[in-house]
Amino acid sequence: PPVPAQCRVAVIGSGPAGFYTAHRAMAKIPGAKVDMYEALPVPFGLVRFGVAPDHPEVKNCQERFEEVASSPDFTFIGNVSVGSRSDHLDGSSISLASILRHYHAVVFAYGASKDRTLGIPGEDLDGVYSARAFVGWYNGLPEYADLAPDLTQGDEAVIIGQGNVALDVARMLLEDVDVLRKSDIAAHAVETLAKSRIKRVHIVGRRGPMQAAFTIKEIRELMKFPSAFLPASSLPTRLSAAEFERTTLSSPFDPNAYALGAGATAQLPCAVAFRSIGYKSTPLPEFADLGIPFDDRRGVMSNDGHGRVQHEERARDGLSVLGSFPGLYCAGWVKRGPTGVIASTMQDAFDTADAMAGDWAARGEVPFLNEGREVDGWEGVRGEQGVAGARVVSWEEWRRIDGAERERGREVGKEREKFVRTAEMLAVLG
Ligand code: FAD
Repeated sequence: PPVPAQCRVAVIGSGPAGFYTAHRAMAKIPGAKVDMYEALPVPFGLVRFGVAPDHPEVKNCQERFEEVASSPDFTFIGNVSVGSRSDHLDGSSISLASILRHYHAVVFAYGASKDRTLGIPGEDLDGVYSARAFVGWYNGLPEYADLAPDLTQGDEAVIIGQGNVALDVARMLLEDVDVLRKSDIAAHAVETLAKSRIKRVHIVGRRGPMQAAFTIKEIRELMKFPSAFLPASSLPTRLSAAEFERTTLSSPFDPNAYALGAGATAQLPCAVAFRSIGYKSTPLPEFADLGIPFDDRRGVMSNDGHGRVQHEERARDGLSVLGSFPGLYCAGWVKRGPTGVIASTMQDAFDTADAMAGDWAARGEVPFLNEGREVDGWEGVRGEQGVAGARVVSWEEWRRIDGAERERGREVGKEREKFVRTAEMLAVLG
């Protein structure tokens, strides 16, 4: 079939993985046009809703993303969730099947919108929060605008988990509220933290310092707080105050050592507890119907390591066969799991874009979606889905929301005052 000259790419998700893939794809595929779908009216994923407010320098990557978005070959389609996700009820949602009909390639960069659970009794008690919810709440994520954590019932908190997110939560609990007030933290969070009685934070994990997932920079930063400490390794069993079973390590100095319950238990009194044992990606609801593979065990889209969606099946004769999904790619946390900083997400996104560019250069031999046909991207999807009347947010409109947030921030002496509800964001647009 004749090979179309212009590559139409849909990117699902506007976090670092989506933006870095878009950037590289537009640089490497001549004439590529990228449409980016984002469930929320505002872009940048965890750069806006994850990175702690007292780490503003980390958000500098947004300037790069602004440049990407200024390209005439780039279209932002905000407030549109792909795959009818039930946890983004405020936005319009469109079907993935429709997207597949109107692009040559689709890049899944939708991150990790759930968190891992402990699976222990007491996990749902009042006073127990998921770190993901708490982080989303202080960063103004609409999903958690009403979390209202109660930090007034006592002066000790327990955080279960030993990653950088646990350290972010600890800093936010212990930081001087007047320092936070000048950051882009959500206003409701400052009010609640100002009334907090928490004075002491215990960060508990199964294994020891050699195995912890914290990075040195983050742990050093926390050491300035006299009231945070890391007790010896212990294994959570159930939460009442918080009761832990002590552990021993298979080999204390081995970074990959595993922990074994040692029988003896210890109790830590605490008024609040945070579960901080990792984020988790889940398949889009339509994956099963469309036959798109998802590795539930690892919580990633099955791929060849370079982001080409693929899955391996063991055939009856014992040989494995690769199931191939032409034109489907993944990048970021949904590709390699919910670990790694923005720099590693960038490398990973570049790797996916390079794979796609190489495949496109070999089109004709390498299959793509809608092979041999010109397709019309967002125009086609919009026509087919009847979402023309829904409130889709363009890049120019996001800039207006951005401007309004900065203006609100100026009035109270901070960089921005975020809108924490989708309706408030849309109200700016009239
Ligand atoms: P995300 O950033 O999560 O982006 C995914 C996007 O997809 C989101 O905007 C989401 O709304 C959208 N989406 C989801 N589902 C759909 C759908 N169905 N349709 C359309 N859109 C959808 N890294 C650092 O370098 N420094 C730090 O200080 C730092 N702090 C962090 C703090 C926390 C609490 C967390 C969780 C992470 C932190 N990171 C930090 C890591 C960094 O945020 C990640 O590496 C990076 O954001 C992962 O990018 P991503 O694009 O894969 O996912």
